[in-house]
Amino acid sequence: MDKMSTKNITGIHHITALAGNALKNLEFYRDILGLRFIKKTVNFDDPGVYHLYFGDYEGNPGSILTFFPYEGIRRGRHGVGLVNTTSFSVPAESIAYWENRFEKYSIPFKNVQERFGSEAFMYFEDTDGLGLELVFNNLDKRGPIPGGDIPGEYAIRGFFGAEIWAAGSERTAALLTDKMDHELIKESGSRVRFAAKNEPGHFIDILVPSSSTRGLNGGGTVHHVAFATPDKETQLKAWHAVKRHGLDPTPFIDRQYFRSIYFREPGGVLFEVATNGPGFAIDEPLEALGTELKLPPRYENRRESIETQLQPLNDPSKSFK
Ligand code: ZN
Repeated sequence: MDKMSTKNITGIHHITALAGNALKNLEFYRDILGLRFIKKTVNFDDPGVYHLYFGDYEGNPGSILTFFPYEGIRRGRHGVGLVNTTSFSVPAESIAYWENRFEKYSIPFKNVQERFGSEAFMYFEDTDGLGLELVFNNLDKRGPIPGGDIPGEYAIRGFFGAEIWAAGSERTAALLTDKMDHELIKESGSRVRFAAKNEPGHFIDILVPSSSTRGLNGGGTVHHVAFATPDKETQLKAWHAVKRHGLDPTPFIDRQYFRSIYFREPGGVLFEVATNGPGFAIDEPLEALGTELKLPPRYENRRESIETQLQPLNDPSKSFK
């Protein structure tokens, strides 16, 4: 937490997406991408469904990708008004490693391309069609996410950023820069990049695609993007700033690992502002994150009936070491 900062928003906190089968989701992000499985809990608004959290070792903001897996969910559609690509930061020298790894696991990927002159990236999708990228760069000061079979020199560091598709970038850009402490970082063609913290993990790209087809939430789409705020005081300031912008933020909601507000930005994407604390070690030790089903206190008395509705995910042989 940066006490010197006057910013209410300090970057990306987490990104939450919709998935189909829970076990496939777990295997893709933990076993193939090498993220740490940091929390197994339920959707607090729909406790018959998992909420699976992935991230770096501690689950630091800027690394947290979460899923609501609904078995048999109808696929969504990428398009305007959604975050369509979630990108991960990997070292510049890891291109060949990841190409080989995706071939080994039969994961289709597009050839490496460049944007902004020299930013190399590779597009791929998870088993539900969620848009993902690896961005090959040497700007990232974070260490590798440990624990899997990926050598540290190639492993994911956390997010690189998120890409929003918009019919026009102006209104979302105005919200980000005027009320959410973001700055314009660079722009090229139909892509404009913003960040509250100018480093990998926190980039928000707004892309104006050639097609104006609206996105549709469903399997393989991002449900919302959450921005990080240091504490409850800065969150209250962010709430007022968003309100002054003419938007309609929700009341403060306790999400056990952070406290949240939600609002829809002018381009249609659901935004959240989440506190950095208390974090994922609040209900299990850091070294044991993700090993047990965790429920918020209000659902503990329903644990048995909740557990019977959920697909078993335990596979100790693959758990984090
Ligand atoms: Zn969220």
